[in-house]
Amino acid sequence: MTTPSSDVLMSFEDAIATFDPVMGLEVHVELNTLTKMFCGCPTEFGAAPNTQVCPVCLGLPGALPVVNQKAVESAIRIGLALGCSIAPWSRFARKNYFYPDMPKDFQTSQYDEPIAFNGALDIVVETDDGPQSITLGIERAHMEEDTGKISHLGGATGRIHGADYSLIDYNRAGVPLIEIVTKPIEVEPALAPAVARAYVTELRELIVALGVSDAHMHQGSMRVDANLSLKPRGRAEFGTRTETKNVNSIRSVERAVRFEIQRQAVVLSSGGTIVQETRHFHENDGSTTSGRVKEEAEDYRYFPEPDLTPVAPDEAWVESLRATLPESPLLRRARIREEWGLSEHEMQSLINAGALDLVEQTVALGADPADARKWWTGEIARISNERGLDVAVLPITPADVHRIIVLTSDGALNDKLARQVIEGVLAGEGGPDEVVASRGLAVVSDDGALLEAIDAALAAQPDVADKIRDGKVQAAGAIVGAVMKATAGKADAARVRELILRRVSGA
Ligand code: ADP
Ligand code: MG
Ligand code: ZN
Repeated sequence: MTTPSSDVLMSFEDAIATFDPVMGLEVHVELNTLTKMFCGCPTEFGAAPNTQVCPVCLGLPGALPVVNQKAVESAIRIGLALGCSIAPWSRFARKNYFYPDMPKDFQTSQYDEPIAFNGALDIVVETDDGPQSITLGIERAHMEEDTGKISHLGGATGRIHGADYSLIDYNRAGVPLIEIVTKPIEVEPALAPAVARAYVTELRELIVALGVSDAHMHQGSMRVDANLSLKPRGRAEFGTRTETKNVNSIRSVERAVRFEIQRQAVVLSSGGTIVQETRHFHENDGSTTSGRVKEEAEDYRYFPEPDLTPVAPDEAWVESLRATLPESPLLRRARIREEWGLSEHEMQSLINAGALDLVEQTVALGADPADARKWWTGEIARISNERGLDVAVLPITPADVHRIIVLTSDGALNDKLARQVIEGVLAGEGGPDEVVASRGLAVVSDDGALLEAIDAALAAQPDVADKIRDGKVQAAGAIVGAVMKATAGKADAARVRELILRRVSGA
């Protein structure tokens, strides 16, 4: 590992007492099209290196690119969902640079003519005074292509310095990307890190709802660069920004912003200057270290791509795409919260458990929202935590949970047995009914068998029996417990209590 920065930091509170942070977030989203941006090569992840390449994405002389229509469609839908205007006519540009990750020696991107521009996204951040809604400006969303992947090997750090050799995989070169860039974000200084996090969270949900990318940050199909500068309180003009690259989790975005605020504050208050540079984020301690001095746009010698025709989506097509937009995640959450009568807090824990979709699907099958929530955020979430997996990837479906809820409300299962059924389903023993049958988990509903166990328990604890007879009905709990134990938890506790009281009163 590279040694993380030994920068002196100012406390976050001191930093924001003197400076106002300005942020800019650039998010790259890898589209889930079947083929690449400008050729027919497959985009499937994980293939053997350099098996998904052709003359176009290898940049061989004479090869001619063609724009992927599906990628343009996804770009327009993202733009529309972000409230952007869609350019009736836009061009690709060549972004020239000399680095082996792009065999053409340029990346085909959009520069001054993005397909979507001037939009907004509403986010909600938690503050001390409760949730606060903030609208962030979107500068543009443009199309480009991903680069190849370079691995530096033989060294200790995986970075180029100290490596013996490097390998390049061009399978990723040419995979369609959409880059979404915010306008400069100026919010209440104390909220800046949380706003960065909330923005990326909201954008990710929107992308997933649109179905244009799986937007997995840990797999790199969504990547965030965080720009940050500080200016002395009250000054209008922006300071020099740094750009922390490829921050690959939502939590890291918040940490990177916070760290840069604290680091830049020290530099500026001691009379230093901030260099415009890219920085690397370090997951282990949340620090950033200097990368390379940032190129200016002119260093890239952008010019319009002569091999591609301009993208000129006709209005009718754009409008037909507008009709395919999903309900915005923000509105959807508000609607669900209202329909299910949840508090902010209950809704938040549902979202944090990653169970909103699953609960919604379970409810759609006919389950009561409270029951569906109880199992997904209770026992199932507990097991997912234990295994370090998302609830969504556990091998239990909304249909399974719905069935368990039906069995429970019919009295065929109690909660304890239901937990065992969940365990069995997750262990691959089949659906709920199969697990009930194979593990013999049905509730003992035969009153005769229950009364036998009750009589035995009353005989064993005559003092308790007396108390109940004297009207201390709470004492029945001890007998219920004994009966549950005798039936290995397979009794319906409410029914047992009823029978005990009847028995004691001589009925
Ligand atoms: P680059 O190509 O250099 O990455 P972009 O325009 O793609 O530049 O993105 C820059 C991002 O930083 C945008 O989100 C922009 O709003 C933001 N930004 C611009 N100037 C500043 C600044 N001085 N401080 C913080 N953020 C800034
Ligand atoms: Mg950029
Ligand atoms: Zn290709």
